[in-house]
Amino acid sequence: MSNTIIQVKNLVKTYGTFEAVKGISFDVNEGEIFGLLGPNGAGKSTTLEIIETLRDKTSGEVIVNGFNLDDNPNEIKKIIGVQLQASGFYPGLNLVELINLFAGLYNEETDPIELLGKVNLVDKAKSKFKELSGGQKQRFSIATTLINKPKVIFLDEPTTGLDPQARRNLWDLILDIRKQGTTVIITTHYMDEAEVLCDRVAIIDNGKIIAINSPSQLIDDLVESGFERPIQVKKANLEDVFINLTGFTIRED
Ligand code: ADP
Ligand code: MG
Repeated sequence: MSNTIIQVKNLVKTYGTFEAVKGISFDVNEGEIFGLLGPNGAGKSTTLEIIETLRDKTSGEVIVNGFNLDDNPNEIKKIIGVQLQASGFYPGLNLVELINLFAGLYNEETDPIELLGKVNLVDKAKSKFKELSGGQKQRFSIATTLINKPKVIFLDEPTTGLDPQARRNLWDLILDIRKQGTTVIITTHYMDEAEVLCDRVAIIDNGKIIAINSPSQLIDDLVESGFERPIQVKKANLEDVFINLTGFTIRED
């Protein structure tokens, strides 16, 4: 049996009179990539930010690596990695300087070049964050989540707005991070991405979890229920055409 690293029980979040998260419960296993899927406004970011200790909950229980959010938020902070919004990066500093700044805040010894190597950005060590392409910015912000050697990282729509090559490149990076033993919680609107990356997904709608399982099992359950695709699907799709024509090589210069 796998160990549970995150337990969420009956989590509720209200904003004024509006209940954004309506008593959801789920567990995340150590070492898995766990996806939170759902339409805009479903409550995904709210849920993540509560677990990340960045937002207060209304009620319910959250336990991360044995620490209860109510009693030990600082212990939780020490073992998680959270992606900053782009606006969190000082525009005048280069990537090495930014990593050194964050390492100082975390009180961690870090080799900036080694860390940039993990996300394939050694060439950009002396560039400023604002000079990076969209995919490079995402890779850099994922690198900053790794500085404190976290047990769990949280990625909220890390591939939104990226081209197909950069998206695939980020999938490899996320799979690599998981391979090192880090648990990953990710949100995405791309179902192909969730299918490739996630060991399990929770589908959340209007603040409630309406399904939770492995992508493969959810698909099997739908087929079992008698669902059929309305038309015969071609053996390739337009994304296959695009990748076939333009190649896997990442373009960011
Ligand atoms: P998701 O990430 O799934 O798109 P969010 O968690 O961001 O959803 O938002 C869930 C709901 O809560 C939305 O209806 C959103 O408008 C609302 N909401 C989010 N943050 C706030 C806030 N600070 N104040 C009021 N309502 C909020
Ligand atoms: Mg969101």
